[in-house]
Amino acid sequence: MVTRIGIHASVETLFPPTVLVDELDDVDPEVTVVTSDDLDGVDALVTFAYDDAFLDSGLEWIHSVQSGVDRFPFEDLEAAGVRLTNSTGTHGDSVGETVAGYMLSFARRLHEYRSKQERTEWAWPAWQDPFTLDGSSLCVVGLGTLGQGIAARADALGMDVVGVKRTPTPVDHVDTVYPRADLHEAIADAKFVALAVPLTDDTAGMIGDAELDAMRDDAVLVNVARGPVVEQDALVDALEGDELTGAALDVFEAEPLPEDSPLWELDEVVVTPHAAAATRDYAERMAALVRENVRRVAAGERLANAVV
Ligand code: NAD
Repeated sequence: MVTRIGIHASVETLFPPTVLVDELDDVDPEVTVVTSDDLDGVDALVTFAYDDAFLDSGLEWIHSVQSGVDRFPFEDLEAAGVRLTNSTGTHGDSVGETVAGYMLSFARRLHEYRSKQERTEWAWPAWQDPFTLDGSSLCVVGLGTLGQGIAARADALGMDVVGVKRTPTPVDHVDTVYPRADLHEAIADAKFVALAVPLTDDTAGMIGDAELDAMRDDAVLVNVARGPVVEQDALVDALEGDELTGAALDVFEAEPLPEDSPLWELDEVVVTPHAAAATRDYAERMAALVRENVRRVAAGERLANAVV
């Protein structure tokens, strides 16, 4: 039974916590904004950050406002009897559009014009740089919510889409689905490689020297997954050594991206601040997930998006 839901102050990173309190004004449990020092009587917590204080505060259920829950200690939560749910299933459209935007920017040179605008510079790009996404190729690595959202938009733009999936069953908008073991073959012919996998033991460092070698020299890497999925030093070397043309990066090994990172300075790198999923509807979407799970707890049903 959930009687009190705390909205952890850390969700402020994504939206004001009070907006989610207002969105949840129709649920039975009391909903208030809380901090890690103030969890007395809270059964369910909606949070962005993880804090060890969550383990021994009597919480029954934690909902992460992110899909990626790699910062949460699954075994400790299980041992403490705390259930964890995530926000998978909510970001296919927002992240899909962001990735379409990155690819359009590279193809149509929009990031280049914007940089020139800052210098009041009116100049065509090098004749051979612009191209169309129509007829270009994309490999989507990870075909869950994000991957499918990306693939659908790429297909609508006329791109040839392949993908990588642990179990290579057919996926809408994806011409060929490769198993994880064939990653190199899957990425070898792609102009764009978009990463949409969770950070796990298997995916950490999934894109390193060997994979960057396997990619086309004129390829663009898109990472909307998690920073450590890519070996960042190897990526910088590949970009600086012209073994890769460009990258659109929303996530990094260290966030915020340190000021001295060479990634800030490279012309063909688009840096976004882990904001690929940002939308004014974010809190409303979180409220829908929390509301459904409050109902399920009351009905004795299994939680949706259960991780632990
Ligand atoms: P999801 O669970 O819907 O999909 C993940 C997919 O990756 C699943 O289909 C899973 O089978 C697949 N997968 C897992 N390991 C794999 C592997 N080794 N090889 C190939 N496929 C593998 O999750 P989602 O909502 O699509 O999000 C995916 C990840 O993207 C999240 O875990 C999170 O880290 C990240 N994410 C980032 C943002 C952002 O703002 N940049 C937003 C949402 C999610």
